[in-house]
This record gives sequence, structure tokens and C-alpha cells, in this order.
Amino acid sequence: MSHLNPTEALRDSDGDQAGAPTYSGFGDFRMTRQRKVVYDVLMAERDHPTASEVFLRAKHVMPGISLATVYNCLETMTHAGLVKQVNVDREASRYCPNLRPHAHFYCSECQEISDVDLHLSASTATPWSLPEGAKIDHLEVSMKGVCPDCQARVLEKSR
Ligand SMILES: [Zn+2]
Ligand SMILES: [Zn+2]
Repeated sequence: MSHLNPTEALRDSDGDQAGAPTYSGFGDFRMTRQRKVVYDVLMAERDHPTASEVFLRAKHVMPGISLATVYNCLETMTHAGLVKQVNVDREASRYCPNLRPHAHFYCSECQEISDVDLHLSASTATPWSLPEGAKIDHLEVSMKGVCPDCQARVLEKSR
């Protein structure tokens, strides 16, 4: 069953924090200066910003960058598999540079999205009763609820 563990397969060599990542394995994707700025913005704060939020942050680094360019970069990088698009209901898409298998937790109070990692020992295949022989290549799980901060606030109010 060891080949059924996508966590292992996706744990790529560059990791997340290990300095300059290599972009091999992303087809003919080229890291241009603008794409680098957009990517760095996403990596700097893992708060799943929308394209307009990315644009506002990217402008600090590259004042000449346009919203259209940011959209373009995000689209190209999503396509190349460098970034994930996260959609909640019908709101504007948000972007996530975390390529490890993880779920998204959406707080209905503060509207923040946070990454939920798998327990180290878990495999993405374990919690669901997958049909025998099925293999997961892509995992997309979202949860909705109230984050710990908001939960504390709610409890405070009801006291
Ligand atoms: Zn994420
Ligand atoms: Zn919250």
C-alpha cells in the first residue's frame, strides 16, 4: 500500500522554507521578475489573499505593476502548479503557495482562510472510504467553521 501515499510523493525536495526553490517540474514555466514579486508576496504572508490584495502588496515592491499583470502571473503560476487557487462560495478567488497536501479552514466570522495540515502519520487516503484501487493525485478539502480567536470572542459575548 505504500505507493498509495500521496503525502510522500508530494513532499518535494525543495520544501517550503529551504531558501531559493527550484522550479523544475513545472513544465516550461519561467520565473520572470514580475512573477517572482507576486510569488514572494504569497510566500511572505500565508493568509490566502485575493488577486487585488496581492496587487496592493506587490505594488510596494514593484510600483509599476498593474492589476492585469498580477492576474496574469497568478493564472500562469496556478497553471504551472506553483500556486493553488482557493475558492470559497462565490467570493473572489484566493491564492495559496502551500503545495503540500492540506485542507483549508474558512472562518465564517472573520472570513480568514487558514491551512490545515495532515497529521504527520496520516495519509490523504485514510479518512475516506476510497474505492479499492483508487489513487489520489489531487486533494481539495475545505472546512467551514469558526476559528479559535472568533470562537473565544463569541463565548466572551455570550457571557
Ligand atoms: Zn492553503
Ligand atoms: Zn475567525
